[in-house]
Amino acid sequence: MSNGDVLTFDIQKNPSPATASEREALLQNPGFGRIFTDHMVTIRYSQDRGWHGSKIEPRKALALDPATVVLHYAQEIFEGMKAYHLPDGGAALFRPGANARRFHNSAERLAMPTLPEDLFVESVRELVRIDREWIPTAEGASLYLRPFMIGSEAALGTRPATDYLYCVIASPVASYFKSGASAVSLWVSEHFTRAAPGGTGAAKCGGNYAASLSALAEGQREGCEQVVFLDAVERRWVEELGGMNVFFVFDDGSLQTPPLTGTILPGITRDSLITLARDMGLVVREEPYSIDQWQADAKSGRLREAFACGTAAVVTPIGKVKGSKYGFTIGDGNAGPVTGRLKAALTDIQFGRAADKHEWLDRLF
Ligand SMILES: *Cc1c(COP(=O)(O)O)cnc(C)c1O
Repeated sequence: MSNGDVLTFDIQKNPSPATASEREALLQNPGFGRIFTDHMVTIRYSQDRGWHGSKIEPRKALALDPATVVLHYAQEIFEGMKAYHLPDGGAALFRPGANARRFHNSAERLAMPTLPEDLFVESVRELVRIDREWIPTAEGASLYLRPFMIGSEAALGTRPATDYLYCVIASPVASYFKSGASAVSLWVSEHFTRAAPGGTGAAKCGGNYAASLSALAEGQREGCEQVVFLDAVERRWVEELGGMNVFFVFDDGSLQTPPLTGTILPGITRDSLITLARDMGLVVREEPYSIDQWQADAKSGRLREAFACGTAAVVTPIGKVKGSKYGFTIGDGNAGPVTGRLKAALTDIQFGRAADKHEWLDRLF
């Protein structure tokens, strides 16, 4: 089937959007993922028609049959990306083609139909354009975009659904962690793992998050904000946080991040930071790093900084690490200079304050 018609969106404007003053009030203190814009994208898939019915419509609740596949077998994938307000009043997405590609890969892993990548990017652009008034202009704030796809057929047989719903919603966000740029504490998950070889660790699917929540709850009971997962085979190699990749910074100025072996989510922030660090002349290794080595290096001072990264929280310094067999502080427990430089280099590009030499921005208006 050609994308000719599916790329043309039927636009149904919200008849009662938030008023300017309601919107202003909400944008004062958006938090993360609590407030939403006036519209959403929906596109349907069925076996006989393929992708069809591209729409921008008023944001509203979805009506689902109680037997809908996603509710029972978690056939769901998603993406996370942002639209940034630029100094000249315009707006841009950051590497949306990379999100489209990853969404394609996630769909394949979950036995879902793949959405054409140009349709994915165009759907996000359309939503940001119609809800452009919702892009916050406060320092560090942005419009978070959440494309997702669910198996929407009503059937309890265990097989891939025949029908799917693709949807994009948008949420103005301030910075992800309440504490802003201050360092987070991590709990080492020694009993629960996030992803095993052959599993879905490299796919962005809701099921991975469901499987990580007990570990997060355990970590929070131990007074930590986030969890760091180890590999499922040897329980030794640092993989990533529940929703962020991880980097280590050494006393010789080099950086290291775990390699993409199939159990780690290939973060676009991770990939961008590798490029930016190399642009700065820093050595970056994609090599395994063990939790025991991390503790030893933090204690000896060979490890100077560590940080987590992802679209939502951007670059977040790691201050302390704790586990039943672990307990150490990184550097002085605060954000280090390399972490700060990399965060600034990335956000300066995203917010249009620095030259975009890798052509990562996709300007919307
Ligand atoms: C989304 C996600 C990341 C970060 O990916 P970005 O593309 O940088 O936002 C890292 N780990 C997991 C498990 C994720 O779901």
